[in-house]
Parts: sequence; C-alpha cells; structure tokens
Amino acid sequence: MDCIFCKIAAGEIPADILHTDEEVIAFRDINPQAPVHVVIIPGEHFTTLAELPEEKSVLVGHMVHVANKLAVSEGISESGYRVVINCGKQGGQVVQHLHMHLLGGRQLDGNLG
Ligand code: AMP
Ligand code: ZN
Repeated sequence: MDCIFCKIAAGEIPADILHTDEEVIAFRDINPQAPVHVVIIPGEHFTTLAELPEEKSVLVGHMVHVANKLAVSEGISESGYRVVINCGKQGGQVVQHLHMHLLGGRQLDGNLG
C-alpha cells in the first residue's frame, strides 16, 4: 500500500521514533508546528478516524495514553499540551492514515480553526 505512515511503521522510511509498542508508533513530525510535535499512529492502517470500527475504539484510548506518557518524557506535561486528530478533508487531514498529533512547548492558539 502506498501509505507513508504504513511505510514508517514498517521501517521502510526513516523517522525519529520516540515510542513503539504492539499497537502504536510515535515519531516527531517532519514539519513541526510547535517545539514538541509528535505524531502517534496505529500500526494497523485505518484511513480516517471515521473508518475506525467501534470494536477498535479502545485504540484511540491507547493513543491518548501514549501521548500522555510522551508529554511527560518531552517535558510538557505540566506546562500543558494539545492532542488533535484531524479527520477528512474539512478536518484538515492530509495523510490518509489515522494519526494523533501531540503539540506543546509554546502557548498554543486558543482558536481551533
Ligand atoms: P494531518 O494534516 O493531520 O494529516 O497531519 C499530517 C502530519 O504528518 C503533518 O503534520 C506532516 O508534517 C506530518 N508528516 C508527513 N510526512 C511525514 C513524515 N515522513 N515524517 C514525519 N511526519 C510527517
Ligand atoms: Zn497506512
């Protein structure tokens, strides 16, 4: 499949990987929007959040858990951070593989878009 995040998950293209486990991989965003900008993806390919089946929704909880752990290791747990999932065209999703952004390390805009 021609999916850049599947290729990162498979180790076929390089990424600055911060975390990996049986369910998810987390790596630094190549075009960071904040001093800390991490992308957290499931190893399994789901094109969008909307396509995640109900029985797999626990996966998003695990992604949040990993984001919280990374916020600690990246030193932004106390200053605060944001987790975001963009879904679909008007949601601003560019890469068609479900992913969560972890953003922090600066004062983030209160405007959500
Ligand atoms: P989204 O707009 O939610 O689809 O966000 C996709 C994110 O993936 C963007 O912030 C990109 O900078 C990031 N991205 C795209 N390609 C790569 C890559 N090869 N390695 C790391 N991050 C990437
Ligand atoms: Zn994929």
